[in-house]
Amino acid sequence: MEQAWDRFCDALERKIGDQNMEIWIRGALRPESILPDRVRLRADSQYYHDWIRDNYYGAITAAWQEAAGRPVLVEMTWNGSAGDEQAPAPPPARRALTHLDRSRTFDNFVVGKCNEFAHAASVAVAEDPGRTHNPLFIYGGTGLGKTHLVHAIGNRFYARSNGTAGVYYCTAENFFSAMVRALQTRSIPEFRERFRTEVDLLILDDVQFLAGRDRTEEEIFYVFEAMRAEGKQIVITADEPPRSIGKLEPRLRTRFEQGLLADVQPPDVETMMAILATKVAGMPIDIPVDVQYMIAQRVRNSVRELEGVLNRLAALHSFYGQPISAQFIQDRMSDIVPPPAPPPSAEQIIARVAEHYHVRPADIRGNRRPANIAHPRQVAMFLTRRITNLSFPEIGREFNRDNSTVQHGCKKIEGDIKTNPNLRAELEMLEKMCRGNT
Ligand code: ADP
Ligand code: MG
Repeated sequence: MEQAWDRFCDALERKIGDQNMEIWIRGALRPESILPDRVRLRADSQYYHDWIRDNYYGAITAAWQEAAGRPVLVEMTWNGSAGDEQAPAPPPARRALTHLDRSRTFDNFVVGKCNEFAHAASVAVAEDPGRTHNPLFIYGGTGLGKTHLVHAIGNRFYARSNGTAGVYYCTAENFFSAMVRALQTRSIPEFRERFRTEVDLLILDDVQFLAGRDRTEEEIFYVFEAMRAEGKQIVITADEPPRSIGKLEPRLRTRFEQGLLADVQPPDVETMMAILATKVAGMPIDIPVDVQYMIAQRVRNSVRELEGVLNRLAALHSFYGQPISAQFIQDRMSDIVPPPAPPPSAEQIIARVAEHYHVRPADIRGNRRPANIAHPRQVAMFLTRRITNLSFPEIGREFNRDNSTVQHGCKKIEGDIKTNPNLRAELEMLEKMCRGNT
């Protein structure tokens, strides 16, 4: 029965997408009886029943047909419907694994200086959950392995429970939509209860997305409290540490900080080489060691970028049918060949930005605050942060400002470029000019 159900779920997910699957089907619909040509499905409540029937009945029938390899009659009922007296409701299904990527494990995660602490903390949490490191908060730039690590935690945790634990992975964005649905359907109590009773390990990826969404933050706080009280483990990722996530509800920030904070950094060349070797091992290409070194040296910012380069390389290789060599890279992928130029200094960036906006560098560093200076100044701070390795306080010294003014300036521009594509394009160009400066 379970296999048929799993096959059905896979087929249905392909039809309606993982978000709808998560919000409307998993946990809300379960099989009551499965016969070769007839299945009976039971929804949690009449509300779910009606919604599912009205919106997904066609997809459900088609998915069963796909899973069973023949037409199947699908009947639907709900808990508490008339006639339930004869058929007692089945015990609630335990949703063992939700959205966990089985291919991301500790075994294929390469450990280096850049991530050894986060890795050790992750292993500790997977093996001894719900105790000291709760929540575990992993933060760092994009493409550095946070999502990989948290899936690895989920997989190890699940394996150690012999397949009995409830592991729930979701992005903060998915949590948000699920919560909005629960609000719409007035089922917040059930929503909370599900986390409390069905989930032993909750993984919330990319929580920076939640900043400023007060209602969701409140709900997460509640879910956290309930889960922690029962000794259940929570794992969180974000692109910054809690204190730098603007607009995060203070109670939630405090909770995040009470656990263990672990960061991931961009890999050094050696770690990049090791990661590259594991990625190449699974690909149909042969990359000589000198070329591997060349790539590892050039691609420093993220592992995702490295994967992109390898994929491109594989595609070009199969297109041209030439062996991969330093020359091949030089000819076909010239963008990764030039040795990385040292980043320009804050002073050079300020000069560039000043020139662009027709103001004087001294104005950018000075105390005057007219509007025509404030914007270039914030742009210069933002670009200095992006381009150099300087910390906020160090940038503050370059600009004769304190740390929080710099942070505020960077945040302001970050916000502006999200809503203003022209500004984004302008700053991208300016960034290129700054980088080409030295
Ligand atoms: P993040 O969530 O930090 O943005 P991901 O976990 O999605 O990053 O990582 C991006 C890609 O790089 C994934 O395919 C992941 O498997 C891979 N990756 C990142 N770090 C490592 C590592 N240390 N070892 C192996 N693969 C890694
Ligand atoms: Mg991620």
